[in-house]
Amino acid sequence: MFRKSCLICESQNLKEILNLGMHPFADTFIPKEDLSNSDKAYPLICDLCSDCGGVQLRCTTNPNDRYCGVDYSYTSSNSNFSRTHWQDYAQEVISKISLKEGFVVEIGSNDGYLAEQFIAKGHRAIGVDPSPYMAKLAKERGVETLIELFSQKTSEEILKNFEKADLIIANNVFNHSETPLNFAKAVANLLNEEGSFIFELPYWGESIESGKFDQIYHEHVSYFTAKSSAKIMEKVGLYISSIEIVDYHGGSLRVYAKKQKNSEDHCEELHKLIQKENNLGLFDVKKYNLFMNNLIYQRNKFLKSLYTLKEKGSNIIAVGAAAKGNTFLNFYQLDKSIIDFVTDSSPHKKEKYTPLTRIPIVGDEVFEKYLDKEVYALILSWNLADILKPILSKINPDIKFISPEKTIAL
Ligand SMILES: [Zn+2]
Repeated sequence: MFRKSCLICESQNLKEILNLGMHPFADTFIPKEDLSNSDKAYPLICDLCSDCGGVQLRCTTNPNDRYCGVDYSYTSSNSNFSRTHWQDYAQEVISKISLKEGFVVEIGSNDGYLAEQFIAKGHRAIGVDPSPYMAKLAKERGVETLIELFSQKTSEEILKNFEKADLIIANNVFNHSETPLNFAKAVANLLNEEGSFIFELPYWGESIESGKFDQIYHEHVSYFTAKSSAKIMEKVGLYISSIEIVDYHGGSLRVYAKKQKNSEDHCEELHKLIQKENNLGLFDVKKYNLFMNNLIYQRNKFLKSLYTLKEKGSNIIAVGAAAKGNTFLNFYQLDKSIIDFVTDSSPHKKEKYTPLTRIPIVGDEVFEKYLDKEVYALILSWNLADILKPILSKINPDIKFISPEKTIAL
């Protein structure tokens, strides 16, 4: 089914801006026993709302299908990199909003690592997450977790059993919601009069400016701009007190919102960012025609170089079996005939296959097998490239790195 109205402002003034072809669920990997089944694929089309400047997927998919094969081995605390990120996050947020002995609710709390950081600093914190497995891990850390998708009902439940929240956090969850407006209403219902709501999600402006399109996948239902963030907050009686771009997931928007007190509340950073979005052409269909043409040009150029390498008998291995990697592989239509393997460190993904492209997933140690051969690595988790390259080069110093931006070996 196609969405006919904007999820944020309910306008029907939607215009198609990007069409990336048919894509499967990006966060679902195929176990060996399911290889005889077909993978579901849906059109990956983005529409721009001319009224609020939000971007959303046109095609609806069933959330139950979307998350049934998700690898729950990914946790907030699974790497040094992410642990440091969340420790810094807690520190920064507490000092920015001057939080004192507050009650914190984290929506999409995963294994409770971030909520635990607030508890360690003398606050009370609970989590909300639909995964019973994650709730169990969080409990082991001392973080009580409600096992559900956050909704109005959840906010009522928390109000009944706890109290109004001084801080509500939602990192990378708002954009997964089928009903972001209801989500925001429930947040406003739960928030203390003086409280803060902080949400972080991949920034659409950054994707378009950098030419990266791989944050687009069926699990991300909507894509936020500063303009649409302000609109959705305004709709539920909140206003943006601060907004910034942080270097996570290759450029995320971190938004601080509070309850509307008076019309004089003015956030200079917000106005500057909306101005920048206007100048960038983010609300102009013509900008996206150009973006799409560039994407196709880059794809054709890169494919040509990959085919040449393959003709010479080179081996090409992709690195990072993550959701965004699947958007890339499917848009480039790269399968086993070009990419020998995709590597990933998660034991839950090894021995599975990428959706639709059906490339086998193995560990990074596969590079050892190519010590005396010509081998190229295409890093799909490009935001972690600086961390991954030395690790991979240690396994095999002869690896040559390739990317669509630099089609020759780096
Ligand atoms: Zn809208």
